[in-house]
Amino acid sequence: MSTATRASVDLGALRHNLAQARRHAGRARVMAAIKADAYGHGLIRTARALAAADALAVARPSEGLALRQAGIGTPILVLDGALDGEELRACAAAALDVVVHRAAQLDLLRRLDPARPLGVWLKVDSGMHRLGVAPASAAALHRELSLLPAVRGPVGLMTHLAEADAAGAQATRRQCDCFAAAAAGCHGPRSLANSAALLRWPWTHADWVRPGIMLYGISPFARQTGASLGLRAAMRLTGTLIDVRPLAAGEAVGYGATWHAPARTVLGVIATGYGDGYPRHAPSGTPVWLNGRRVALAGRVSMDLITVDLGHGASDRPGDTAELWGPRQPVEEVAAAAGTIGYELVCGVTRRTTVDVEP
Ligand SMILES: *Cc1c(COP(=O)(O)O)cnc(C)c1O
Repeated sequence: MSTATRASVDLGALRHNLAQARRHAGRARVMAAIKADAYGHGLIRTARALAAADALAVARPSEGLALRQAGIGTPILVLDGALDGEELRACAAAALDVVVHRAAQLDLLRRLDPARPLGVWLKVDSGMHRLGVAPASAAALHRELSLLPAVRGPVGLMTHLAEADAAGAQATRRQCDCFAAAAAGCHGPRSLANSAALLRWPWTHADWVRPGIMLYGISPFARQTGASLGLRAAMRLTGTLIDVRPLAAGEAVGYGATWHAPARTVLGVIATGYGDGYPRHAPSGTPVWLNGRRVALAGRVSMDLITVDLGHGASDRPGDTAELWGPRQPVEEVAAAAGTIGYELVCGVTRRTTVDVEP
């Protein structure tokens, strides 16, 4: 027995979710997004579990280098691209493909030794206004890139969708149209779709899809869970009940005395807090799965502990395990209660937790 908070990563769920992504993708190839330590699930183990993906996508060169050092041979795309010549040379040496999102990155490629050419995707800003070259300049830049000796063709064209998770298609249509016009006449594969677009808008699929969050069993859509989309939660975060105590009606619980027992009840104390990655902003009422039922958070989340209302006559005992999120307690519900998204919760699990891996 231990009071550690545990994050169990289910590799079978990752494989299942990749198969679901493929089913939705049809003929498009699948680039699995495993940036940010594979959304908190562990970079290397996730890359191995997703060996059936056609390629992997990371945000930073360092993440790609770590994958290569671990012996991962799958094609890898660095989504943020290389900042300077040094980063670009490191990418080339490790056979990492890079995104080019600003014109100055062409100069870096011009100065690169062509002995080991690298794969390149040109990112077009079709309306998100975060990264990407102006649509009007895309075709000329694509032509220039395609002629560089250090670039292995064909050069891809990609964009990122800002509102693919919205109920309406309008903004996504507008970005798609903008991208299609910018890329017209260019020879090379095209990629637009994140998980939301992959699941909801088949006309965005093009040649490569780039799912991330769905691979972890989490819905990209508000008010929907991964399970309702045929996905399986890949992370289960559990904490240990370490005390059970009676509470009289009206007694306050926790910092700031923000919750008072509305009636005589039993309070459960679970040894998990924001120091483990449980969101501090989760309010009273946030669900926790314990012994076959949902109980509600009662009082503020603290660094090492949360408190839950077990109800009068509860038979829970110290040592019992609570599921904070996972297959029985959707992370989407915890995130919604805390005013955030499942992405942030799984990324935010801290190093204090013990990680278990289920094959
Ligand atoms: C993270 C990321 C994705 C995956 O997005 P999800 O919403 O997690 O599916 C796709 N493309 C780019 C450029 C990304 O940064």
